[in-house]
Amino acid sequence: MFTKRFTLLATAAAALCVALPATAQDYPVANKPITFVVPFAAGGPTDKAARDLAVSMGKTLGTSVVIENAAGASGSIGANKVAKANPDGYTLLFFHIGQATLPTMLRNIPYKVESDFEHLGIVSENPMAVLARPTLPANNMAELVKWANDNKGKINIGNAGIGSASHLCGMLFQSALKVDMTTVPYRGTAPAMTDLIGGQIDLMCDQSTVAAPQLEGKKVKGYAVTTPKRLAPAVFKDIPSMQETGFKDFAVTIWQGLYAPKGTPAPVLKKLNDALKLAVRDPDFINKQEAGGAIVVNDARTDPAGHRAFVAAEIAKWAPVIKAAGVYAD
Ligand code: ASP
Repeated sequence: MFTKRFTLLATAAAALCVALPATAQDYPVANKPITFVVPFAAGGPTDKAARDLAVSMGKTLGTSVVIENAAGASGSIGANKVAKANPDGYTLLFFHIGQATLPTMLRNIPYKVESDFEHLGIVSENPMAVLARPTLPANNMAELVKWANDNKGKINIGNAGIGSASHLCGMLFQSALKVDMTTVPYRGTAPAMTDLIGGQIDLMCDQSTVAAPQLEGKKVKGYAVTTPKRLAPAVFKDIPSMQETGFKDFAVTIWQGLYAPKGTPAPVLKKLNDALKLAVRDPDFINKQEAGGAIVVNDARTDPAGHRAFVAAEIAKWAPVIKAAGVYAD
């Protein structure tokens, strides 16, 4: 009896010993793609940064990294998908500052940022740019402020949904100008940009990385960037910071990072974090971000603990701002 039970236990223990290291050793299997879920439409700034990171991390991991756009509900649909995914390292979330704003802005958020995700590192930061349709008559911030005051009640501002970065920036802009505008939500700022170019909406904030080519092609007008300093790329050289235009407290920095579902095995997380750390040193990844005025993060926030602490600090930073503005969605 004792011998039989002992044999069974020994067999189970041996099976466990074989199964555990195999998970890490075999990860990732060469022909099994890793998916980065992007919670916004294709062609927007979150999608662009994710695709650039996918190329760089794919080189290190030795397998393809594909993008799945799971847009809707300001990014919470895609985030929830990853929160509930199999924690095997093959389904990851690439998300921006929304990880810190949605918990306050959405009343019924279906996941917990702190406990449903493993944090894999922040990779980049960039400002938003305040943009307008090409036919809007104002040619600088002073003229835009006057135009907004002259057109109260008639102005549309696009965004990627309540709680998105563009919404946060647009909300701060309206409160700085003391002019209320009609918010037009999209499934990401890529479709909103199409409508801005076409003149269906008047204004929008979007990350500098996707604003750059549109400004270059004179498809949209740009008035200011939301970080204190002007941006390095030539296309931004005549675009002041919000602070330079007189809005002293206006500062929004968008950051982007990678997450795995809670419970992903530690050795898998280590492989992913190692690949992320190589990506933020990869000249190809760096050049692609810098071309659009983003900076690649290469500090303690590329560590899981640093990333987790930073997200917690950002939730605490933005909660009172959001509550004061009273902007919530279900
Ligand atoms: N720029 C978007 C935002 O405002 C998201 C996106 O489409 O990437 O949150």
